[in-house]
Amino acid sequence: MTDAKTQSGMDAEAALPMPAGRALFGMNLEELGQVAAALGEKPYRAKQLYEALYEQRVTSVEGVTTLSQQLREKLTAAGWQIAMPQILQTATSVDGTERYLIRMADGETVETVWMPDGDGGERGDGSEAAEEEAKEAVAAADAAASETAFMRSSTARVDGGYWSRRGEGRDIRNFGTLAETGFRRATICISSQVGCAVNCQFCLTAKFGIRRNLTAGEIAGQVAAVLNRHNIQIGKDRINLVFMGMGEPFLNYEHFMKSVLLLVEGIGIPESRMTVSTSGILPGIEAFARESVRPKLALSLNASNDIVRERVMPITRKWKIAQLLDACRAIPLRNREWVTFEYVLLGGVNDQPEHAREVLTLLKGMRAKVNLIVWNPGPGIDYKQPSAEAAAQFQSLLIEGGMPTYIRRPRGRDIYAACGQLKRTVVEERPHLVEIGAAAF
Ligand code: SF4
Repeated sequence: MTDAKTQSGMDAEAALPMPAGRALFGMNLEELGQVAAALGEKPYRAKQLYEALYEQRVTSVEGVTTLSQQLREKLTAAGWQIAMPQILQTATSVDGTERYLIRMADGETVETVWMPDGDGGERGDGSEAAEEEAKEAVAAADAAASETAFMRSSTARVDGGYWSRRGEGRDIRNFGTLAETGFRRATICISSQVGCAVNCQFCLTAKFGIRRNLTAGEIAGQVAAVLNRHNIQIGKDRINLVFMGMGEPFLNYEHFMKSVLLLVEGIGIPESRMTVSTSGILPGIEAFARESVRPKLALSLNASNDIVRERVMPITRKWKIAQLLDACRAIPLRNREWVTFEYVLLGGVNDQPEHAREVLTLLKGMRAKVNLIVWNPGPGIDYKQPSAEAAAQFQSLLIEGGMPTYIRRPRGRDIYAACGQLKRTVVEERPHLVEIGAAAF
């Protein structure tokens, strides 16, 4: 989408380095056809490769047993690898959330999060996933209550092992399938860039600046690696995806959208089970509105007026709230689709009743819902969590004003896996990373 790229004025983004190397994972059918042709092979070989990469999620050329041994050797000799990203490290929360440090072929790392039972983000957005959320709301409330009790007496572990929920009399192995672990569905939170340039003031990722864009294969590959870890069978297990990890997907638009197609057509996850969150990249939203296959949209609003938003999200200097809302209004929504507005509540900054009333005015008449996120603390970030009363009052005011509003369940706070908490845990080993400037706006 050239529009998003050129109009965004992100010259720095265009100049970001991309990984070198011959990675098969991330190629679409046409590109695989070119690989086959270059090796003097028939076009149907491309289909075999495509199925092996995305349906079977094979991790090595040698493992593509639908190809002849001779062809596998030819691919390897030509330097082709599958190059699916690898899980390097796992942090496991007491609530079952897993945060992964995932390594790309060139050694860069990002973080990806697995949330069994999700975080309630889809509630009220009109989709099938939302209906499932509603049905399971009571169970989720029970789980949250027991989680709170458990968190008071527990610490998380960082390793590749398992966790147990004390008091429930069962150990839950995270390596198992969803059914084996006792969960009904899961949400995977994916990164789209190595770091982020947007510089939202409440976000830990922003502290580390931007390294580079991820390729489509590296974005979809995070999903494949996590699905493999949990032996997920698409079609049987219910998997939701949120593009809400490290990075701004609309500043890596082409690779992001290509990854969506690979995830939908190749891996088999319906687009209705995907949500992309943007900080408000106007040309990106406009391009997104024109896509025929696309996830649902969530806009990180986080303030009720431009003055507060500029302080919290400096990107507001470039695109104002009114412009973003106009672009959202212009999206041709599908049946059962609502736009989600994410709103991180920052104590004393944007969580007052007058802010709630301003939000209602902004969103009036829109087919929309609001997800409130109680700010998750991160080291070196100088905000306060709002009180439970302030969050509840904010929610009540919006609901009373006719806006469906939900408070997102925090997942994995103890392992820094919650919203705005993702960072690169290798940063301590590579301290130069913190020196990269984050402020692009
Ligand atoms: S909230 Fe998202 S867009 Fe903002 S700095 Fe963090 S990762 Fe980037």
